[in-house]
Amino acid sequence: MRLLLVEDEKELAKPLKEGLEYQKYAVDLAFDGQDGERLARENNYDVIILDIMLPQKDGISITKSLRADGISTPILMLTAKGTVEDKTVGLDAGADDYLPKPFAFGELSARVRALLRRAGTEKKPVLQVADLQLDPATHDVIRAGKDIELVKKDFQLLEYLMRNADRVLTRAEIEEHVWDRNAELWSDVIRSHIKTLRAKIDKGHKTKLIKTIHGVGYKISAK
Ligand code: CA
Repeated sequence: MRLLLVEDEKELAKPLKEGLEYQKYAVDLAFDGQDGERLARENNYDVIILDIMLPQKDGISITKSLRADGISTPILMLTAKGTVEDKTVGLDAGADDYLPKPFAFGELSARVRALLRRAGTEKKPVLQVADLQLDPATHDVIRAGKDIELVKKDFQLLEYLMRNADRVLTRAEIEEHVWDRNAELWSDVIRSHIKTLRAKIDKGHKTKLIKTIHGVGYKISAK
């Protein structure tokens, strides 16, 4: 799951980014409205967390212009202003939810999960492909009753594959959804993570779930 965070207060933005990354989201960060809007247009995010008061372009204007262009990514608005009026303006502009500052990190992360669920990207609480299960909430990965330990990137990659089970995902799609824009992707990075996943998920099992579609990408499937 890939998130965009647009927040000009660096002392708030940086810990938020870290907290969300700790929860295994890939997070891009923009410190002003112009950069934030550009990123929102260029990339395919699962949720945008958008401050209202921003240099260059405010969150309400960004929301309006994204919605006017048919970009329907769920938006969670943040603001220091917490009046009913501001809330209405944000939601009327096309935001999906609204969180007044100051807020507890746990509340932000619960709202993000709710938006992901609403968007249908978190359809089932536990993802399952054959005897492999992944729980996005607890980060538990289990195959045939045995716990599997995965580092963050391997977990994110497996989650993305499992959310799109039986569908071939191109390298470009995987890159876009699993890595953030500052990640340095050497040409074999995806292959190397797939190799690790195979060793952890498929090794010792008769049915290999992770498939390579040569020249295209990868998919996870029991078939
Ligand atoms: Ca601000």
